[in-house]
Amino acid sequence: MSVYKAQYIWIDGKKPTSHLRGKTKIIPTGEAPPEWGFDGSSTNQAVGHASDLVLKPVYTCPDPIRGGHDKLVMCEVMNTDGTPHETNKRALCVQTAEKYAAHEMWYGIEQEYTFFEGIKPLGWPDNGFPAPQGGYYCGVGADEVYGRDIVEAHLEACLDAGLAISGINAEVMPAQWEFQVGPVGPVECSDQLWIARWLLYRIAEDFGVSATLHPKPVKGDWNGAGAHTNFSTATMRESIDACMAAANSLEARHDLHIANYGADIDERLTGEHETCSYRDFKVGVSDRGASIRVPWQVARDGKGYIEDRRPNANMDPYVVTQLITDGVCAAAEAAAK
Ligand code: ADP
Ligand code: MN
Ligand code: MN
Ligand code: MN
Repeated sequence: MSVYKAQYIWIDGKKPTSHLRGKTKIIPTGEAPPEWGFDGSSTNQAVGHASDLVLKPVYTCPDPIRGGHDKLVMCEVMNTDGTPHETNKRALCVQTAEKYAAHEMWYGIEQEYTFFEGIKPLGWPDNGFPAPQGGYYCGVGADEVYGRDIVEAHLEACLDAGLAISGINAEVMPAQWEFQVGPVGPVECSDQLWIARWLLYRIAEDFGVSATLHPKPVKGDWNGAGAHTNFSTATMRESIDACMAAANSLEARHDLHIANYGADIDERLTGEHETCSYRDFKVGVSDRGASIRVPWQVARDGKGYIEDRRPNANMDPYVVTQLITDGVCAAAEAAAK
């Protein structure tokens, strides 16, 4: 009997930031990945005397690491009674996306991350620090970029998996990088971002390197890591007025968004290092010190999308795209009444 390997992937209950878990199931060729179970007491998702939780496959793609007919299977975590587990943030994201489907929201998320080797960023000297920031962003050369072989392998894997990865770049702090996923719908973007994160960890593992989404991996005068979330509705893709209205509508729930945009967001949104303080809300054209940036091409073209610069690298895209979809679409509908 011929079989394939399905790598089931899910989000655990680690606090304050959930991590990815995965395990492999051997499935007969031609059969779809079925629901499966796991021990929730080992993932901070259940107590020992009632530890069974359910993995519900929701997004499947080719496994670019194992190759062949093997698959990666993103799952939602469910209780045994069929309801979403409390750590399952995707269920509400799907509900909100369906409610506002007529707005045709698209998301493009910029995932920043930092490579570590042991306790220091990859390529950093054992004693002291590399030269101050300035030459590293989009740099080239062994003195400026660290880990490009891992980044290239990750990009190739994301493409082989069929993810909507749209680019990569070296970031402002050495050993820090970014990839972008999108533009696609809120649920697709989030599913694919989680898979892309899994591939990043998994590929870096082969190089003896870890990747962290910590929002401020090195204290002091070094850039933090964010997950700028670009988005548009069908109306925004036709009108700058709709872009500005969407940007301004995000002010009403600023505190709610900040509270849900990733742990330790106060360490990153300081007002320094291309951020706006988490205490303030500011909309700006081409302004990397704003909470919400309207890109210059959008101002020029009179239509397009906007960038929410507030989310941390360690945010959950199901949570962030749910909040933005809900806030922006509700405000647009209220204004149209
Ligand atoms: P930055 O200049 O902020 O570094 P990037 O090029 O890294 O911008 O990321 C821009 C993101 O915006 C990409 O992920 C891209 O897919 C996304 N994007 C482009 N057009 C749209 C759109 N109309 N709606 C939503 N996202 C979009
Ligand atoms: Mn970018
Ligand atoms: Mn960036
Ligand atoms: Mn950006």
